[in-house]
Amino acid sequence: MTRQVRCECGYTARGRSDDEVIALVLAHVAAEHPDLAGSETADDVRHWIELVPD
Ligand SMILES: [Zn+2]
Repeated sequence: MTRQVRCECGYTARGRSDDEVIALVLAHVAAEHPDLAGSETADDVRHWIELVPD
C-alpha cells in the first residue's frame, strides 16, 4: 500500500512509509505554506495519511 496526503492546494505527497510522507508534507508546508509551518507537526500530518492501493 502507498501512503498519500493531499494538501488543500492540490499537492499530493506519496511514499512507501508514514515517515517518508510526513517528511514530504512538512517540507512542502515549509516551502509553500510558511504561515502554517510552525503549527503543523509530524503527529498532525500522520492523521492525514490515506492508504491507497499500489
Ligand atoms: Zn500545499
